[in-house]
Amino acid sequence: MPDVQEILKVAQEAGRKAAMVCRAVHAQTPESMDKGDKSPVTIADYGSQAVILREIAAAFPDHGVISEEGSEHLRESAGDNGVATIVQLVGDATGESVNFDQVCAWIDHEGGKGAELTWAIDPIDGTKGFLRRQQYAIAIGLMHNGTPFAGVMVCPNLPVDLDNPDGTKGVMYVAAQGQGCQRIALDTGNGSPASSSASEDPSAWRVLGSVESAHGDPKLVVNMMEEAGVNGGFIRYDSQVKYGIIAEGAAEIYLRPRSNPDYRENIWDHVAGVICCQEAGGIVTDLDGKPLDFTLGKKLLENRGVLATGNPDMHARVIAGIAAAEARA
Ligand code: AMP
Ligand code: MG
Repeated sequence: MPDVQEILKVAQEAGRKAAMVCRAVHAQTPESMDKGDKSPVTIADYGSQAVILREIAAAFPDHGVISEEGSEHLRESAGDNGVATIVQLVGDATGESVNFDQVCAWIDHEGGKGAELTWAIDPIDGTKGFLRRQQYAIAIGLMHNGTPFAGVMVCPNLPVDLDNPDGTKGVMYVAAQGQGCQRIALDTGNGSPASSSASEDPSAWRVLGSVESAHGDPKLVVNMMEEAGVNGGFIRYDSQVKYGIIAEGAAEIYLRPRSNPDYRENIWDHVAGVICCQEAGGIVTDLDGKPLDFTLGKKLLENRGVLATGNPDMHARVIAGIAAAEARA
């Protein structure tokens, strides 16, 4: 079996360096450079991926890597200023002198294709939230034969104390199979075990969804809540942060229906979050109650949306609520 402690140490170090890049870009004014598919990307997405893959390539050169970004679009669109900026950002975060070709080589690192241990990485999940200076996650997940095995999810803008939204920001969730999930304050390193909600009162259950309502099906969520008697409110967060909120028991349900019948989820939007949620006591499946199948490449080709809940009883009630809501529609 893989050395879990070594894996978590490397992933945390990668996540901390990536957070330095993201925070440094936030200290300036981040600009979007739209990709061909109209999704936004920033210099921070590329810088974050470069520093993460530098750590992983050095520590585990044979592991596979599936990641969101590639250097081609960066090379086309960075311009002289962008090149200078990313070289500076990556140099500052790694503490070594780097050049642009080296940065691009780290971004494109794929390791051993089809390896038993394969990372799924989203250097900035929720780029729209990042641009709005709201929530985003640096998601570093590892799969063992296609099953989420370990994950580090850094949320640089999440309040350390969720009840004090104006207080210190920066949270890291760290989990591995059989090891539980820790919620760690990014800047002090103080952590404690995360544990999902055990509430038995559906009228108090809180539901999470995307800030971008186009990423889901808000009507189905409302109808599920009605059918299942869920009434604790609907809370919006960008990115995989939602899995962390379920993991720490600050909400009960994360329901992500397909936005349209053709949409398939990217694995890097889920691996790190899923292991954190599961290790805290949560359950994650699709909307039919099927386990997520991470063995099919970059996408969850065979799953219909995603549902995460704090425990199995909640899960059963929500699955029944979805079925009733869909029968009604
Ligand atoms: P969230 O903030 O939870 O909606 O997650 C952000 C992620 O949603 C991005 O990283 C995209 O990969 C993903 N995304 C983009 N378009 C869609 C869509 N139409 N439906 C579902 N997810 C999407
Ligand atoms: Mg993403």
